[in-house]
Amino acid sequence: MPETSLKEITTEFLPCPECGAFAEGIETCHDRFHELLIFDYQDQGYFAVHHLLVLTFMTQHADALTDEAFHSSRAALSAFAAGKWPDTHVQQQAQTRLENRAQFDGTAQFVRKSSQLRQRIAWTRTVFDVDFSGVSAYVQTVEAWASAVAHDLESATASP
Ligand SMILES: [Zn+2]
Repeated sequence: MPETSLKEITTEFLPCPECGAFAEGIETCHDRFHELLIFDYQDQGYFAVHHLLVLTFMTQHADALTDEAFHSSRAALSAFAAGKWPDTHVQQQAQTRLENRAQFDGTAQFVRKSSQLRQRIAWTRTVFDVDFSGVSAYVQTVEAWASAVAHDLESATASP
């Protein structure tokens, strides 16, 4: 057997350490996320849900986020699920906050808190549920994923 086979097999069967999704083959959630970002920047139709895609992915992969950034992203997703998606300016602000916090403010304390929260959530949808075969399927499945994450977070908070 070639030396690389053990690594490939291990990667294939381990769930994502942050969201628990099982990767397709050796592709990770982060690999898939970056592939989708390429679609976003190549096609305006895909870009229509770019902010929602980033927000949803980062909320599900929140280890590097502070409490403030996590609650901010979570509130934005709840607003989306309630049909009150903020205007573009607010979306961009939320995204900038997320990116800044993820980059500069990640703390051990938050990582511990988010890990506890994550363990209680069995996400109903992940980045692998996004269909990128066409614009309408893409928009529809990104929105469905965002709503599912908002719903899963609410359910996790409601249960003891
Ligand atoms: Zn993941």
